[in-house]
Formats: sequence, C-alpha cells, structure tokens
Amino acid sequence: MAKKLVLSYGHGADTANKAHSKFVMNKGKMYEEHTFNAKVGVKTKKIVEAHGITVLEVQPPNGSDVPLRTRTNKANSWGADLYYSIHANAGASSAKGVCAFYWSTSKSGKKLAELYAKFAKEAGLPLYHNGSYASVKGTWNDFHELRETAMTAVLTENGFMTNSEDFKRIFENAGNFHDVIAEIHAKVILSFFGVKYDPDKSGVKPTISKPSKPATSKPTEKPKKDIHRVKVDGKQVGAFGDEKNVIDAVEKALKGGAKKVNVEEV
Ligand SMILES: [Zn+2]
Repeated sequence: MAKKLVLSYGHGADTANKAHSKFVMNKGKMYEEHTFNAKVGVKTKKIVEAHGITVLEVQPPNGSDVPLRTRTNKANSWGADLYYSIHANAGASSAKGVCAFYWSTSKSGKKLAELYAKFAKEAGLPLYHNGSYASVKGTWNDFHELRETAMTAVLTENGFMTNSEDFKRIFENAGNFHDVIAEIHAKVILSFFGVKYDPDKSGVKPTISKPSKPATSKPTEKPKKDIHRVKVDGKQVGAFGDEKNVIDAVEKALKGGAKKVNVEEV
C-alpha cells in the first residue's frame, strides 16, 4: 500500500508583504513565518521519503501562498492517508512552546498530536498547552486544514515567533532546532504509517539543547521612528511606535467583528 503523506507548509513567501501578517520584526528586520515552515518542512520531507513515504507538497517551499481550500482539495482528491501542516505561532511575548492541533472528533489525530507532544518533551522543548490541543468547530481554533481534510490531519505550531526564546530556535536555529523539530515530525509521521524510524536514514543531526542565552531584545521590538497607523473599517483607532501595540489593536478589532483592518506606516 502506498503510504501517502501531504505536507502543508504554512502560508507563502508573499504572505508577509501582501497580507501584512505572519511575520515578526526584530531589530528592524522582518522574519517571516513561511521561511521557517518551508525549511523544516523540506527537512521532514527528506527524512520520510528516505523511509519510503510518498509526499505531496500542497504548498511549494518559498512559493506564493496556496489558498487553504486548494490545499485541502488537493489532499482529498489525491487520497492522502495523512495531512501534516507546519506552522509557527504568534501571541503574547510570554507565550512559548510547541503544540499540535487535531480535530476534536478525530481519535487518530489526537493520538498523533499526543505523540508529537511526547517526542517534543523528550527533546527538551517547552510545550504549549501540554503539547496537544483539540481544534473545535465554531471556536478560534476551528482550523480549515483540520476541518476540511478527509483523512487524519495534524496542524503543528512549532514555537512562538513572538517569544524571545522560541524566536532564537525558530529563526536562528538555536540548539539545532530545525533538525530537532524535523526529526520529531518525521517520527510522528512514520509512527502513523507503522514504519520504524532509522536515524541513519534521517540526514539530520538533532541535539538536545536549549538556546544558550536569552535574546538581547524582544522579537516584536522595532526602532521608535517607525510609526504604524491602524484603521478599522475606515476609521483610525491609533498610531503606534511599538509593533506589539499594533498587533494588539488589530487583534482587538478582529475580535470586535471588524470587516476591514488597515495597517500602514506613517
Ligand atoms: Zn501559520
């Protein structure tokens, strides 16, 4: 039986600039979520392919963003056995750790998410929400990729871009994180297919370690001179020098049911 895996790398190379989301600023530099998702995804793909798994990438690494509907349709029509999505999280600067989401009614999804948490814990990574999280219809975590997939599906959030410790892992590969996390993904995937993981086939060198020192500045900091104006449904709600305040204002607007939110540099 062919073992068919779909890998979905969160967002696209154009997401940060086009949608003004899925990135963090650090010392005036933009760090995009997709670059990390793609890097880890490609590593994961190599490992599982070396173990005989057939992989379909529904988002090309570093290509333009493929809509979620297109991704899940492709997975469904291809007849994938497993849908595996790779992301990095964003939130309050205190929130940190890795976590896998599964559709709340999927037993096999839950099992895989818990396995992800187990491997992550063994690798010494901090866990968010105990490392696994049920995705529930009609809530903030009613994720399309988990809801619209006909097969077992997992959506992994591999740390918070907005946390200084996680940032070092995600964007600076602290503790050889990219290999560590790719190996965790591969182990979860191979376990689903009942294939024994062989480290000699992996081509990665995961090491168990934590970032050597805390980041010297918070990931969300920007030079003071960059002021961003936030408009909600055409009305200005504020102009902020601190990226964090911009994000907070956008979040508040979205929670308040805003139809259109604009962020522009003044
Ligand atoms: Zn994402």
